[in-house]
Amino acid sequence: REEMMFEHEKMRLVGELAAGLAHEIRNPLAILRGFLQHSKQRQYNIEPWYGLMIDEIIRMNKLTVEFLQFSKPDPSSYGIHSLHECLQKVVFLTGPKVADLGLELAYIVDKSDTQVRIDMSKMVQVFVNIVNNALEAEAKSGNGTVTLKLSKEESRVVVEVRDMGMGIREQDMKQIFNPFFTTKADGTGLGLSISKKIVQDHGGDIEVSSSPGRGTTFFVFLPVVSG
Ligand code: ADP
Ligand code: MG
Repeated sequence: REEMMFEHEKMRLVGELAAGLAHEIRNPLAILRGFLQHSKQRQYNIEPWYGLMIDEIIRMNKLTVEFLQFSKPDPSSYGIHSLHECLQKVVFLTGPKVADLGLELAYIVDKSDTQVRIDMSKMVQVFVNIVNNALEAEAKSGNGTVTLKLSKEESRVVVEVRDMGMGIREQDMKQIFNPFFTTKADGTGLGLSISKKIVQDHGGDIEVSSSPGRGTTFFVFLPVVSG
């Protein structure tokens, strides 16, 4: 019964996200349509707007790609893995972005025997989302280093993602986990809402602490598998 509730809740959220997604995609579509119609009627040359049109298409693509992370069904993909293995993949996958932005990602392993029951690809995505946000914050301000730290408390594994970026404003704090909330020109606002849902599906949670102008730390907690 618990499982059914779980599925029901999930479907509700997917529906909510789908409605939001449709809304988010309508605007860029209307913009593209407008440009093309004007061009067809030879009212003006749209060539100077190609860049903007491509940006709108990139944005729609990003929205659908990120949305798929959430809705893609994969039933029995949970397995016992070390979270260290998961974070190594994250370091590897974020490598190109770290290099492109001229930043550094410091991975600190306090405890490596961190067995957790996870859907590996989903959990990798969670940390990629959080690290990407930290890198984007560092790219704007900060000292150039994002710190990823793996440690362990009694019954849970703790992953910390720390940046020295611009921080999160008090009034935004309440909203950052809401689908489609973004403060970025090219953001989707899906990363954190999807990540939180995935972590909660794993019996864990995400917390955040931030001081505006000084930086942000995200904490991800996951239950340890004993034995
Ligand atoms: P997106 O990155 O597409 O904007 P997210 O769901 O990943 O969407 O994040 C939502 C918002 O939370 C961001 O737009 C930003 O305002 C805020 N945020 C998340 N992580 C950080 C961070 N490390 N530093 C500052 N702001 C952050
Ligand atoms: Mg993001």
